[in-house]
Amino acid sequence: MLLFFLSATLASAQFYGDPPDDHHPWAVHDNNRPQPPKVTPGKVPGAPPSDAIVLFDGTEASFKANWEHEKKNRKTEWQVIDGAVQCAKGAGTIRSKAQFADCQLHVEWSAPAKVQGSSQGRGNSGVFLMGTTEIQVLDNYNNPTYPDGFAGSVYGVMPPAANPLHAPGKWQSYDIIFRRPIVKDGVVLDEGSFTVLINGVVVQDSTPLEGGGGHRGRSKPRAFPEKGPLKIQDHGNPVRFRNIWYRPLRKRPVEGGTDGKLSVEATTAKRAEIAADLRKDAATKKGKERLLRLLESLCYEVDEEAVSVAEEEGQAFVAGVKAKPEGRKGDVIQVNNAVKYLVKHGRMPSDHEAIGQLKALIKENGWDK
Ligand code: MG
Repeated sequence: MLLFFLSATLASAQFYGDPPDDHHPWAVHDNNRPQPPKVTPGKVPGAPPSDAIVLFDGTEASFKANWEHEKKNRKTEWQVIDGAVQCAKGAGTIRSKAQFADCQLHVEWSAPAKVQGSSQGRGNSGVFLMGTTEIQVLDNYNNPTYPDGFAGSVYGVMPPAANPLHAPGKWQSYDIIFRRPIVKDGVVLDEGSFTVLINGVVVQDSTPLEGGGGHRGRSKPRAFPEKGPLKIQDHGNPVRFRNIWYRPLRKRPVEGGTDGKLSVEATTAKRAEIAADLRKDAATKKGKERLLRLLESLCYEVDEEAVSVAEEEGQAFVAGVKAKPEGRKGDVIQVNNAVKYLVKHGRMPSDHEAIGQLKALIKENGWDK
């Protein structure tokens, strides 16, 4: 029974949940919506999944291929030692050759086991998203400092919600989800955010960027470029890094993404696109399948031509069933349900003649019992 129910709902899923509206181009539970792309996860937590872009895999070759001194024409003197890259004092900040923006970033770091210095002077480095906004790297295992400069802080903006650091010398993992600010014509549409996990513990949770922070100055919301490099800071301490990778994130509606709550204009455009695809697909089908596909397209966009083709197909369908009703009960109920759905959601007038015809067919053949 459950199996039958599932297959029945899948076949007519487009007439199942609430239809598209002014801000959502897809119906609720819409099977026309693209399936999420397959990603093979890493073998162990922290390992790069199949779609990750690896910026450092522990080898000298990977470091050379992906990183450079932040200043043009300067050679970096960071050292690859035992599968990690280590900051050398005075060597300067490094940056990735890759430029990117919104991302999931994974990076592991280790502060020197030999504890030296205090506050901001102990195991200080930092990862700068788009080269400009810092998630602090600092040995705060047993080392108080100003909280908005703690390990895992959005530096100068927001302290981490907790301090889950291991002892210095051990490896710490950062998982960072970064959204850049979106500013259009001087209007801040989204000020951007950071979500950060240290060693699997959430320390930033959609923290607004407020301009991205900085040293001593209070930053204000501002436009960011489209892309930028990842930078890792030379703060004079021999901090080591390993296993650095990122995955770009899907676009938000404010920057043209088609998942989530969209503007009326973007929704209308996407609905027209989906409807056009369905009508193209309908043209490759015949009979009931063609009719259902056309009716389905009306959920997204009521288009005069599509309505008239659907009406022709509908008339042919009714005539076909009338001529030979044997074995057509399921088909008629399916089409009738689709029509009822379209009427319920205002895609078809409730006094449309097809409604009476289908009703009569069902009654004549005793399919209502
Ligand atoms: Mg720093």
